[in-house]
Amino acid sequence: MNRKTFFKGLALGTISLPFIMRSCGGDPTAQSNLQSANTASSKKYKWKMVTTWPPNFSVLGEGAKLFSDWVKKMSAGRLEIEVYGGGELVPALDCFDAVRNNVADCASGAAYYWAGKVPAAQFFASIPFGMNAQQLNSWLYCGGGLELWEELYAPYNLIPMPGGNTGVQMGGWFNKEITEVADLEGLKMRMPGLGGKVLAKAGGTAVLLPGGELYTGLERGIIDATEWIGPYHDYKMGFHQIAKYYYTPGWHEPGTALELIFNKKKFEALPEDLQEIVRCAAERLNQWVLNEFDAQNAKYLELLKQESQLEIRSFPDDVMQELKKYTSEVIDDLANSDAMSRKIYDSYNSFKTKGKAWADLTERAYYEKVSI
Ligand code: CA
Repeated sequence: MNRKTFFKGLALGTISLPFIMRSCGGDPTAQSNLQSANTASSKKYKWKMVTTWPPNFSVLGEGAKLFSDWVKKMSAGRLEIEVYGGGELVPALDCFDAVRNNVADCASGAAYYWAGKVPAAQFFASIPFGMNAQQLNSWLYCGGGLELWEELYAPYNLIPMPGGNTGVQMGGWFNKEITEVADLEGLKMRMPGLGGKVLAKAGGTAVLLPGGELYTGLERGIIDATEWIGPYHDYKMGFHQIAKYYYTPGWHEPGTALELIFNKKKFEALPEDLQEIVRCAAERLNQWVLNEFDAQNAKYLELLKQESQLEIRSFPDDVMQELKKYTSEVIDDLANSDAMSRKIYDSYNSFKTKGKAWADLTERAYYEKVSI
């Protein structure tokens, strides 16, 4: 189809849906399969979803329940998914094994929780100084990222789908100012994953504490600082009552993706229309989580400012440059850890480089101009 025909087709409304879908990685055969599947089966399925989140956890646990509701409504009750909070059916961090081994049918979590089993999974959650939510979604849905994620999880009998994004997180709560990178030396900070490795290279100590122990840990000096998510969840944790400085940006989590994982054999055993319903609900969840984070974080940032004396600070440029340098070393180690990590890193990095050039012209230029 040449350019002239394309525009003429648009004007007349004759560009077909399969063409539009194919242009962004969609399946051109899906529509015909749907038509046959709709009349194929009234069989009912009952699934279990386990989650890494505490029961009814704001946004993330709520999102898992919404996903279940949407699937039930769209399938007219043919697929019902019962959602379990972390620890209710299996321990929170056992979700990966629970789904691949048929203890549950699907799960809501984040790919970096499985870094110990599948190092490359971290590219599908968050990379320090990596892509933001918009760029990551673009890579996953339309840049080959999701195909690589599927390839990574296939040997584990799992199918992954993006299941939300936090947006750029905050840099964390501190009781002393960070004016130079030396201020990070000896700092005991709750900082999981790759960010923790970067902090360690800067001379700090990454401390792993469960969410429920963070407040008392910070209050009693077991840790000097902690990151969590953003104003909404941080407000509920009460960190503003015991920490003076709230730092930005969350260089360590610039747009953390959440994931849905499905038992591959169970998913492939569904009729094609139910598979498409699950995919549609997952994509709706992916967008809803980001929307909800942005809406609630903006609201709770105002509350934090009204109800506490906290001082919001930005990490100095030279501190960010040093952390970025250490991040390159950490990501190189990850990319060199196995063949899939290298393959995924190459795709991620290539997409990020092109995305930056485009974002510099548009998103960045817009923010810089409107903040003048
Ligand atoms: Ca975090």
